[in-house]
This record gives sequence, structure tokens and C-alpha cells, in this order.
Amino acid sequence: LETYDRLQKLTVSSAVLGRALAITDAQVRKDLAYFGQFGYPGVGYRVSELIVAIKRILGTDKTWSAALVGVGNMGRALIQYRGFARRGFRVAAAFDSDDAKIGEVVGHRKIQPLKELESTVRRRKIQLGIITVPAEAAQEIADKLVAAGVRGLLNFAPVQIDVRAGVSVVAVDLAIQLEQLCFQVG
Ligand code: ATP
Repeated sequence: LETYDRLQKLTVSSAVLGRALAITDAQVRKDLAYFGQFGYPGVGYRVSELIVAIKRILGTDKTWSAALVGVGNMGRALIQYRGFARRGFRVAAAFDSDDAKIGEVVGHRKIQPLKELESTVRRRKIQLGIITVPAEAAQEIADKLVAAGVRGLLNFAPVQIDVRAGVSVVAVDLAIQLEQLCFQVG
């Protein structure tokens, strides 16, 4: 939708959206109808209106801030990824356990020691955590983030992490995704 908006298209049909998403137009209409009435008969959807509505549904109409833990190669890339800001996400603080990295500036953020995690998360009301530590440290870091008040974790460590009810985890395992791709290609 943002692409259509940039191209100054005012309206879009469920058929066009469906093609872009590789689903049927009926599925697009059904999914959106679940949340309300957004389309106009004979017109389709108004692009800017639908962007606002979907952001509201997803909760991305406000800025979310995240604390990132583990400023290795993956962490560094994510801190500097501009795509987050464009979608309303801010990596507000970054932490590492390695003394050699603490104090270093990455993407305008100074890497902080782990002992400052809890107070920083609380003071700055950080809602999300991004975990980019090695697998063996991931659970401990998840526990620290949750104890500090974080309610959602994006986990890049290739390991399952357990959290209490009320906290959400989304796992991103790039190696598994490559494995899936190999299976499909091979
Ligand atoms: P490096 O830059 O150290 O070579 P890397 O990209 O190879 O990093 P990993 O070994 O996966 O990455 O580690 C990622 C980062 O997580 C490193 O910066 C490491 O210091 C940090 N780290 C490891 N254990 C912990 C922990 N328990 N708490 C916080 N940070 C940790």
C-alpha cells in the first residue's frame, strides 16, 4: 500500500492487492472485513485510508521503541537498519556484555553494559526487545528484558525461548529460512 501511495495511486482494488500478496481477491476482502468496512463499491479501497486503518489495527500508528541486546554483526546491522524507522520502530538502546564494546557508538547509540538494561528499559518505557546474542545466552537475556517490563521479543537467536503469559515472542531464524529455501530449490 505504501508503494501505491508513493506512486500516487489513490485507490486500489482487492484484485490488485491479492495479486501483490499472492492470495485471492476474495481473501483480501474477507481478511479486511474481519476488522470493519473499508472498501467502496465500484471504487475499491482508498490507499491512504487503508494505510491508516491497517496501522491502527496492527498498533503501528504509534512509535514503538525497542532495546537490542547483543551488538555483534547481526545486532549492528539491525541498529542501523533504516527500514525500522520508516515503519515506526526505534532501537532506543543497545546492550552488550563485552567490555570492549561498551561505550562504542553504533548508529548514534552508545552501547551500554547489561547492568543498565533494567533501569534504561523502565525509564524510557521501552516496550520491545530484540535479541541478537548467541543461542546459549538468549533465554537469560529474554528473562532480563521481560523482568524490566518488555512485552514483546523479536528473537534472532537460533533457539526457542520461553516467556510467561502476556509476553509475545516472534522468532527470526535466517538459517532455517535458508534451509527451507534449499529444500524447495533442491
Ligand atoms: P562479534 O562482533 O563478537 O564477533 P558475532 O556477530 O560473531 O559477534 P555472536 O558471537 O553471535 O556474534 O554474539 C553477538 C553479540 O552478543 C556479541 O557482541 C557478544 O558480545 C554479545 N553477547 C554474548 N553473550 C551475551 C550476553 N550474555 N549478554 C549480552 N550480550 C552478549
